[in-house]
Amino acid sequence: MYTKYFICEHCSKRFGLDAFMKEYKGFACPRCGRMLEITYDYERILANFMPAQFRHMPPTHMKYYFALPLKNPHKAVTLGEGGTPLVNIGENAYVKFEGVNPTGSFKDRGSSVEISKAVELGKKEVVCASTGNMGASISAYASKAGVKAIIFTPEFAEKIKLKQMKYYGAKVIKCGRTYSDALIKSIKYAKLNNAYLTGDYPYRLEGQKTVAYEIADQFNCNAPDNIIIPVGNGTLFYATYKAFKEMKLLGIINKMPKLIAVQARGCAPVVNAFRKNRKLRKIKNPETIAGAINCDNPVEGENALLAIKKTRGDAIAVSDDEMIKAKKMLARKGIYAEISSAAAYAAYEKMRIRIKGTAVMVITGIGFKDRN
Ligand SMILES: *Cc1c(COP(=O)(O)O)cnc(C)c1O
Ligand SMILES: [Zn+2]
Repeated sequence: MYTKYFICEHCSKRFGLDAFMKEYKGFACPRCGRMLEITYDYERILANFMPAQFRHMPPTHMKYYFALPLKNPHKAVTLGEGGTPLVNIGENAYVKFEGVNPTGSFKDRGSSVEISKAVELGKKEVVCASTGNMGASISAYASKAGVKAIIFTPEFAEKIKLKQMKYYGAKVIKCGRTYSDALIKSIKYAKLNNAYLTGDYPYRLEGQKTVAYEIADQFNCNAPDNIIIPVGNGTLFYATYKAFKEMKLLGIINKMPKLIAVQARGCAPVVNAFRKNRKLRKIKNPETIAGAINCDNPVEGENALLAIKKTRGDAIAVSDDEMIKAKKMLARKGIYAEISSAAAYAAYEKMRIRIKGTAVMVITGIGFKDRN
C-alpha cells in the first residue's frame, strides 16, 4: 500500500490514516468541514511501477491497486467490478459503459474499496445513505464479505432498487424527502452503533478513480480530450479528476482531459454555482426523474467545481425530457442506460458543436432500474 495521509485540500491540514480512522467522526476536516482526501507516496509508486507490465495487463479494477488504499489487494472484497467496455458510438464519441458492473452501476468500484476497508478494520456492520444504486452496491459487497448492511433511502428511491437491496440481504429504512435527510440519519446511526459509515467519503472516492484509469488505459495510455460525467454528489467527477492528476504525476498520460459536469435541470447546484461563479448552494425543492443524480447538497460539490475550473471544463444542465430522449437514442446504438446516465449523452447532443476532439461519456448505470 502506497498511501501517505488524509489531507484537506482546502486548509492543507493532514491526518494520519490509521489514527484518524481509530477515533473517526466521519471524514470531514475537523477544522473547516471539507471532505478529506487520501494522498500517496507517488515517488515510491514510480520506483515500483513497470510500464511494460502495465501495458500487458487487461484493464480491471484491481489492476490499479497501486493507486488504491488497500493493505492487501489479494484480500479485497470483489465481485469482478470494472473492466467495462469503452464503446465507439461514431466519430470521436465513446461510451464508457459502467452499467455492466455487478450491481448495474459504477458504484461497485467504490463499494469494493469501502467494504474491503470495513473488513480490514474488523467492522461487522456498515451503514449508507443512498438514492438507490449505492445502497444496492453496498448491500451486495457487504453480503459478499459477510457484513451486515443498513441503508437509509429518501422517499423518492425507485422501488426496484429497494428490492435489489433487500434481495442482497440489507435492512432498508425509508426516511425523509431529500437525500440530505437520509444522509443525516446514516451519520447518526454510524455514531450510535459503531457501524462503518459508507457513502461519498474518501475511501469510496479512491475506488471510483479506477474508471478513469481504465479510460486512459483503453486509449493506450492517453487522455481523451473531453469526459462528460453525470454529477450527483460529485464523487465520480472529482475521483476522475484526481485519477488523471495522479496518472500525469506517474507519467501514464501527458495531458489532462476537460471534465464536463452534467446535472438535471431540477437539481443542478454545481451547474448553477459554476455558471454564476459563486459558492455552492443547497437546492430547496429538487425535482427530477433522474433519481441517481438528485442530490440537493452535493457532498463533493466544491471539489467538482474545482475540477471543472482546473481542467477548463464545463457544466451543463439537461431537462428530464432531454434525458428520456437520450436514453432512447443510446438504446438505438445498443447501449441501455439508466436515465441519470443518459444525461451524459443528452449533454453531448447539446454541446456537440462546441466539443473539440474525442469525447467519452460515462454511462454510469444500466437502464433496467428506471420507471421510464
Ligand atoms: C451515483 C450515480 C451517479 C452520480 O454519481 P456521484 O458520484 O454521486 O456524482 C450518476 N449516475 C448513476 C447511475 C449513479 O448511480
Ligand atoms: Zn480543512
